[in-house]
Amino acid sequence: MNAKSVISRRSLLAGTAAALAASPVASSGAFARAPLLNTQAPAYYRFRIGTIEATAVSDGPLDLGAPQPDIFKGVSKDDFSKALADNFLPTEKVKLEQNALVLNTGDTLVLIDTGTGAQKLMGPDTGRLLGNLRAAGIDPKDVDAVVLTHAHPDHCWGLIGTGGQQHFPNAQIYMSQEDFEFWTDPARATNDMLKGFIENTRRQLLPLRERIVFFKDGQQFLPGVQAIAAPGHTVGHTVFMISSGDRSLCNAGDLAHHHVMSLQRPQAEFAFDTDGAQAARTRQRLFGMLAAQRIPLLAYHFPWPGLGHLATQGGGYRFVPSPLQTVL
Ligand SMILES: [Zn+2]
Repeated sequence: MNAKSVISRRSLLAGTAAALAASPVASSGAFARAPLLNTQAPAYYRFRIGTIEATAVSDGPLDLGAPQPDIFKGVSKDDFSKALADNFLPTEKVKLEQNALVLNTGDTLVLIDTGTGAQKLMGPDTGRLLGNLRAAGIDPKDVDAVVLTHAHPDHCWGLIGTGGQQHFPNAQIYMSQEDFEFWTDPARATNDMLKGFIENTRRQLLPLRERIVFFKDGQQFLPGVQAIAAPGHTVGHTVFMISSGDRSLCNAGDLAHHHVMSLQRPQAEFAFDTDGAQAARTRQRLFGMLAAQRIPLLAYHFPWPGLGHLATQGGGYRFVPSPLQTVL
Protein backbone atom coordinates (compact mmCIF):
# COMPACT_ATOMS: atom_id res chain seq x y z
CA MET A 1 0.00 0.00 0.00
CA ASN A 2 1.55 3.37 -0.96
CA ALA A 3 1.14 6.71 0.77
CA LYS A 4 -1.43 7.91 -1.69
CA SER A 5 -3.71 4.93 -1.18
CA VAL A 6 -3.42 5.27 2.62
CA ILE A 7 -4.48 8.87 2.36
CA SER A 8 -7.33 8.18 0.01
CA ARG A 9 -8.52 5.27 2.22
CA ARG A 10 -8.34 7.53 5.26
CA SER A 11 -10.30 10.26 3.62
CA LEU A 12 -12.80 7.71 2.37
CA LEU A 13 -13.33 6.40 5.91
CA ALA A 14 -13.59 9.91 7.29
CA GLY A 15 -16.05 10.80 4.57
CA THR A 16 -18.14 7.72 5.31
CA ALA A 17 -18.22 8.49 9.02
CA ALA A 18 -19.25 12.06 8.33
CA ALA A 19 -21.93 10.91 5.93
CA LEU A 20 -23.32 8.43 8.47
CA ALA A 21 -23.32 11.03 11.21
CA ALA A 22 -25.15 13.50 9.03
CA SER A 23 -27.53 11.05 7.46
CA PRO A 24 -31.05 10.55 8.78
CA VAL A 25 -31.09 7.03 7.27
CA ALA A 26 -29.58 5.28 10.34
CA SER A 27 -32.55 6.14 12.53
CA SER A 28 -35.30 6.09 9.96
CA GLY A 29 -35.90 2.33 9.90
CA ALA A 30 -34.62 1.93 6.36
CA PHE A 31 -32.35 -0.99 7.37
CA ALA A 32 -33.73 -4.50 7.07
CA ARG A 33 -33.85 -5.06 10.86
CA ALA A 34 -33.17 -8.80 10.78
CA PRO A 35 -34.66 -10.35 13.90
CA LEU A 36 -32.35 -11.90 16.51
CA LEU A 37 -32.53 -15.65 15.91
CA ASN A 38 -31.69 -16.85 19.42
CA THR A 39 -30.84 -20.34 18.20
CA GLN A 40 -27.59 -22.24 17.90
CA ALA A 41 -26.46 -24.69 15.21
CA PRO A 42 -27.22 -28.31 16.17
CA ALA A 43 -24.35 -29.54 18.34
CA TYR A 44 -22.81 -32.37 16.39
CA TYR A 45 -19.39 -32.56 14.76
CA ARG A 46 -18.29 -35.21 12.29
CA PHE A 47 -14.75 -36.42 11.74
CA ARG A 48 -12.91 -39.58 10.77
CA ILE A 49 -10.73 -42.05 12.61
CA GLY A 50 -9.26 -44.07 9.74
CA THR A 51 -12.32 -45.62 8.04
CA ILE A 52 -14.57 -45.08 11.08
CA GLU A 53 -17.01 -42.19 10.74
CA ALA A 54 -17.13 -40.48 14.13
CA THR A 55 -19.65 -37.89 15.31
CA ALA A 56 -19.33 -35.95 18.54
CA VAL A 57 -22.82 -35.18 19.86
CA SER A 58 -23.59 -32.85 22.75
CA ASP A 59 -26.02 -33.42 25.61
CA GLY A 60 -25.63 -29.74 26.55
CA PRO A 61 -23.48 -28.10 29.23
CA LEU A 62 -23.52 -28.85 32.95
CA ASP A 63 -23.68 -25.98 35.40
CA LEU A 64 -21.15 -26.35 38.25
CA GLY A 65 -22.02 -22.94 39.72
CA ALA A 66 -19.45 -20.47 41.01
CA PRO A 67 -15.90 -21.70 41.69
CA GLN A 68 -15.79 -23.38 45.10
CA PRO A 69 -12.76 -24.23 47.21
CA ASP A 70 -11.78 -27.89 47.10
CA ILE A 71 -13.84 -28.84 44.01
CA PHE A 72 -10.25 -29.60 43.04
CA LYS A 73 -8.65 -30.65 46.32
CA GLY A 74 -6.11 -28.12 47.58
CA VAL A 75 -7.23 -25.42 45.13
CA SER A 76 -8.70 -22.33 46.86
CA LYS A 77 -11.61 -20.31 45.43
CA ASP A 78 -9.16 -17.48 44.61
CA ASP A 79 -6.71 -19.79 42.83
CA PHE A 80 -9.56 -21.37 40.87
CA SER A 81 -10.95 -17.94 39.88
CA LYS A 82 -7.51 -16.69 38.86
CA ALA A 83 -6.88 -19.73 36.65
CA LEU A 84 -10.25 -19.12 34.97
CA ALA A 85 -9.53 -15.41 34.45
CA ASP A 86 -6.03 -16.14 33.12
CA ASN A 87 -7.67 -18.36 30.51
CA PHE A 88 -10.34 -15.80 29.56
CA LEU A 89 -13.13 -17.89 31.09
CA PRO A 90 -16.09 -16.58 33.13
CA THR A 91 -15.25 -16.51 36.83
CA GLU A 92 -18.82 -16.40 38.14
CA LYS A 93 -19.94 -19.73 36.70
CA VAL A 94 -18.10 -22.92 35.78
CA LYS A 95 -19.53 -24.91 32.89
CA LEU A 96 -18.56 -28.36 31.73
CA GLU A 97 -19.65 -29.71 28.35
CA GLN A 98 -21.01 -33.21 27.75
CA ASN A 99 -19.47 -34.61 24.59
CA ALA A 100 -20.87 -38.01 23.67
CA LEU A 101 -19.37 -39.87 20.71
CA VAL A 102 -20.95 -41.94 17.95
CA LEU A 103 -18.82 -44.37 15.90
CA ASN A 104 -20.02 -45.86 12.66
CA THR A 105 -17.69 -48.65 11.54
CA GLY A 106 -19.84 -49.40 8.51
CA ASP A 107 -21.25 -52.47 10.24
CA THR A 108 -21.87 -51.27 13.76
CA LEU A 109 -23.25 -48.04 15.20
CA VAL A 110 -21.81 -47.33 18.64
CA LEU A 111 -22.72 -44.55 21.11
CA ILE A 112 -20.31 -43.79 23.96
CA ASP A 113 -22.16 -42.24 26.95
CA THR A 114 -25.73 -40.96 27.00
CA GLY A 115 -25.86 -37.65 28.91
CA THR A 116 -28.20 -36.88 31.79
CA GLY A 117 -31.51 -37.68 30.06
CA ALA A 118 -34.56 -35.82 31.32
CA GLN A 119 -33.09 -35.19 34.80
CA LYS A 120 -32.10 -31.56 35.27
CA LEU A 121 -30.08 -31.94 38.47
CA MET A 122 -27.03 -30.49 36.68
CA GLY A 123 -28.71 -27.47 35.15
CA PRO A 124 -31.41 -26.57 32.62
CA ASP A 125 -29.30 -26.88 29.46
CA THR A 126 -28.73 -30.64 29.63
CA GLY A 127 -30.75 -33.46 28.08
CA ARG A 128 -30.13 -32.52 24.45
CA LEU A 129 -28.52 -35.73 23.22
CA LEU A 130 -31.53 -37.29 21.47
CA GLY A 131 -32.35 -34.07 19.61
CA ASN A 132 -28.75 -33.58 18.54
CA LEU A 133 -28.46 -37.23 17.43
CA ARG A 134 -31.50 -36.77 15.19
CA ALA A 135 -30.12 -33.48 13.87
CA ALA A 136 -26.95 -35.41 12.98
CA GLY A 137 -29.02 -37.90 10.96
CA ILE A 138 -28.63 -40.67 13.55
CA ASP A 139 -31.78 -42.53 14.60
CA PRO A 140 -31.48 -43.77 18.21
CA LYS A 141 -33.23 -46.99 17.09
CA ASP A 142 -30.26 -47.74 14.81
CA VAL A 143 -27.72 -47.69 17.67
CA ASP A 144 -26.34 -51.24 18.05
CA ALA A 145 -24.18 -50.64 21.10
CA VAL A 146 -24.23 -48.12 23.94
CA VAL A 147 -20.89 -48.04 25.74
CA LEU A 148 -20.52 -46.41 29.17
CA THR A 149 -17.28 -44.95 30.48
CA HIS A 150 -18.88 -45.14 33.94
CA ALA A 151 -22.28 -45.07 35.62
CA HIS A 152 -22.49 -41.46 36.83
CA PRO A 153 -25.73 -39.55 36.09
CA ASP A 154 -24.28 -37.44 33.27
CA HIS A 155 -23.10 -40.57 31.44
CA CYS A 156 -25.86 -43.15 31.83
CA TRP A 157 -29.13 -41.46 32.80
CA GLY A 158 -30.02 -40.98 29.13
CA LEU A 159 -30.68 -44.70 28.67
CA ILE A 160 -34.32 -44.66 29.81
CA GLY A 161 -36.87 -41.84 29.73
CA THR A 162 -39.06 -40.65 32.59
CA GLY A 163 -41.94 -42.79 31.32
CA GLY A 164 -39.75 -45.89 31.31
CA GLN A 165 -39.21 -45.83 27.53
CA GLN A 166 -35.90 -47.18 26.28
CA HIS A 167 -34.12 -44.57 24.18
CA PHE A 168 -31.89 -47.12 22.43
CA PRO A 169 -34.24 -50.10 22.12
CA ASN A 170 -32.01 -52.20 19.87
CA ALA A 171 -28.69 -51.68 21.61
CA GLN A 172 -26.53 -53.93 23.75
CA ILE A 173 -25.12 -51.99 26.70
CA TYR A 174 -21.39 -52.36 27.41
CA MET A 175 -19.94 -51.31 30.77
CA SER A 176 -17.65 -52.45 33.57
CA GLN A 177 -18.98 -54.97 36.07
CA GLU A 178 -17.44 -52.94 38.91
CA ASP A 179 -19.52 -49.85 38.08
CA PHE A 180 -22.70 -51.87 37.53
CA GLU A 181 -22.37 -53.47 40.94
CA PHE A 182 -21.40 -50.26 42.78
CA TRP A 183 -24.03 -47.95 41.31
CA THR A 184 -26.93 -50.39 41.68
CA ASP A 185 -26.08 -51.31 45.30
CA PRO A 186 -28.23 -49.43 47.87
CA ALA A 187 -25.64 -50.29 50.55
CA ARG A 188 -23.24 -47.85 48.80
CA ALA A 189 -25.61 -44.90 49.45
CA THR A 190 -23.66 -43.50 52.39
CA ASN A 191 -24.78 -39.88 51.89
CA ASP A 192 -27.75 -38.08 50.32
CA MET A 193 -25.97 -37.39 47.03
CA LEU A 194 -25.01 -41.05 46.57
CA LYS A 195 -28.52 -42.10 47.62
CA GLY A 196 -30.02 -39.99 44.82
CA PHE A 197 -27.44 -41.19 42.30
CA ILE A 198 -27.97 -44.87 43.13
CA GLU A 199 -31.79 -44.72 43.24
CA ASN A 200 -31.94 -43.24 39.75
CA THR A 201 -29.12 -45.34 38.33
CA ARG A 202 -30.99 -48.48 39.42
CA ARG A 203 -33.97 -47.20 37.37
CA GLN A 204 -31.65 -46.84 34.37
CA LEU A 205 -29.66 -50.05 34.55
CA LEU A 206 -31.78 -52.75 36.19
CA PRO A 207 -34.51 -52.83 33.49
CA LEU A 208 -31.75 -53.32 30.90
CA ARG A 209 -29.83 -56.00 32.84
CA GLU A 210 -30.45 -58.69 30.21
CA ARG A 211 -28.82 -56.53 27.55
CA ILE A 212 -25.77 -55.46 29.59
CA VAL A 213 -22.41 -56.99 28.63
CA PHE A 214 -19.36 -56.47 30.87
CA PHE A 215 -16.06 -55.70 29.16
CA LYS A 216 -12.67 -56.56 30.62
CA ASP A 217 -9.53 -54.40 30.87
CA GLY A 218 -7.62 -54.63 27.59
CA GLN A 219 -10.46 -56.32 25.71
CA GLN A 220 -11.40 -55.24 22.20
CA PHE A 221 -15.12 -55.77 22.77
CA LEU A 222 -16.37 -54.06 19.60
CA PRO A 223 -14.64 -53.61 16.23
CA GLY A 224 -11.83 -51.08 16.76
CA VAL A 225 -12.85 -50.32 20.38
CA GLN A 226 -10.58 -51.45 23.24
CA ALA A 227 -11.35 -51.00 26.95
CA ILE A 228 -8.62 -49.60 29.21
CA ALA A 229 -9.40 -49.66 32.92
CA ALA A 230 -8.99 -46.14 34.38
CA PRO A 231 -10.28 -46.50 37.96
CA GLY A 232 -10.56 -43.81 40.60
CA HIS A 233 -13.21 -41.37 39.37
CA THR A 234 -15.46 -44.41 39.82
CA VAL A 235 -14.42 -47.95 40.72
CA GLY A 236 -14.93 -49.19 37.15
CA HIS A 237 -14.26 -46.00 35.16
CA THR A 238 -12.92 -47.02 31.73
CA VAL A 239 -11.49 -45.17 28.74
CA PHE A 240 -11.55 -46.49 25.20
CA MET A 241 -8.86 -46.62 22.56
CA ILE A 242 -10.52 -46.42 19.15
CA SER A 243 -8.36 -47.57 16.26
CA SER A 244 -8.69 -47.89 12.51
CA GLY A 245 -5.68 -48.40 10.24
CA ASP A 246 -2.87 -46.24 11.59
CA ARG A 247 -5.22 -43.73 13.27
CA SER A 248 -6.42 -43.76 16.82
CA LEU A 249 -8.37 -41.66 19.30
CA CYS A 250 -8.71 -42.08 23.04
CA ASN A 251 -12.24 -41.55 24.37
CA ALA A 252 -11.02 -40.26 27.71
CA GLY A 253 -14.35 -40.13 29.58
CA ASP A 254 -13.83 -38.41 32.94
CA LEU A 255 -10.06 -38.83 33.24
CA ALA A 256 -10.20 -35.03 33.60
CA HIS A 257 -13.09 -32.62 34.17
CA HIS A 258 -11.86 -29.10 33.53
CA HIS A 259 -9.55 -28.36 30.61
CA VAL A 260 -7.57 -25.84 32.65
CA MET A 261 -7.68 -26.97 36.28
CA SER A 262 -7.44 -30.73 35.70
CA LEU A 263 -4.46 -30.22 33.40
CA GLN A 264 -2.53 -27.54 35.30
CA ARG A 265 -2.86 -29.68 38.42
CA PRO A 266 -3.34 -33.28 37.30
CA GLN A 267 -2.52 -34.45 40.82
CA ALA A 268 -5.54 -32.59 42.29
CA GLU A 269 -8.38 -34.86 43.36
CA PHE A 270 -11.86 -33.96 42.05
CA ALA A 271 -14.73 -33.64 44.54
CA PHE A 272 -16.90 -36.20 42.72
CA ASP A 273 -14.22 -38.92 42.54
CA THR A 274 -15.01 -42.16 44.37
CA ASP A 275 -11.28 -42.55 45.12
CA GLY A 276 -9.60 -39.24 44.35
CA ALA A 277 -6.04 -40.38 45.01
CA GLN A 278 -6.44 -43.35 42.67
CA ALA A 279 -8.09 -41.12 40.03
CA ALA A 280 -5.12 -38.73 40.17
CA ARG A 281 -2.63 -41.56 39.70
CA THR A 282 -4.67 -42.96 36.78
CA ARG A 283 -4.96 -39.51 35.17
CA GLN A 284 -1.24 -38.84 35.36
CA ARG A 285 -0.32 -42.29 34.01
CA LEU A 286 -2.71 -42.13 31.03
CA PHE A 287 -2.13 -38.43 30.30
CA GLY A 288 1.60 -39.13 30.24
CA MET A 289 1.01 -41.85 27.66
CA LEU A 290 -1.33 -39.73 25.49
CA ALA A 291 1.08 -36.78 25.53
CA ALA A 292 4.21 -38.88 24.84
CA GLN A 293 2.57 -40.82 22.00
CA ARG A 294 0.76 -37.75 20.60
CA ILE A 295 -2.56 -39.61 20.62
CA PRO A 296 -5.61 -37.36 20.16
CA LEU A 297 -8.36 -37.56 22.75
CA LEU A 298 -12.02 -36.71 23.09
CA ALA A 299 -12.67 -35.56 26.66
CA TYR A 300 -16.33 -35.70 27.72
CA HIS A 301 -16.31 -32.48 29.75
CA PHE A 302 -13.86 -30.31 27.79
CA PRO A 303 -14.96 -27.36 25.59
CA TRP A 304 -17.13 -28.58 22.73
CA PRO A 305 -16.46 -30.90 20.95
CA GLY A 306 -13.65 -31.92 23.34
CA LEU A 307 -11.22 -33.02 20.62
CA GLY A 308 -7.53 -32.27 20.86
CA HIS A 309 -4.14 -33.26 22.17
CA LEU A 310 -2.31 -33.01 25.48
CA ALA A 311 1.05 -31.28 25.61
CA THR A 312 3.25 -31.30 28.69
CA GLN A 313 3.62 -27.93 30.39
CA GLY A 314 5.31 -27.21 33.69
CA GLY A 315 4.39 -30.02 36.05
CA GLY A 316 1.15 -30.66 34.17
CA TYR A 317 -0.39 -30.41 30.73
CA ARG A 318 -2.23 -28.06 28.44
CA PHE A 319 -5.10 -28.95 26.13
CA VAL A 320 -4.51 -28.12 22.46
CA PRO A 321 -7.87 -28.25 20.66
CA SER A 322 -7.88 -29.77 17.18
CA PRO A 323 -8.78 -27.35 14.39
CA LEU A 324 -12.39 -27.99 13.37
CA GLN A 325 -12.84 -29.04 9.77
CA THR A 326 -15.55 -27.30 7.78
CA VAL A 327 -15.32 -29.97 5.09
CA LEU A 328 -15.15 -33.67 5.96
ZN1 LIG B 1 -18.94 -36.79 33.95
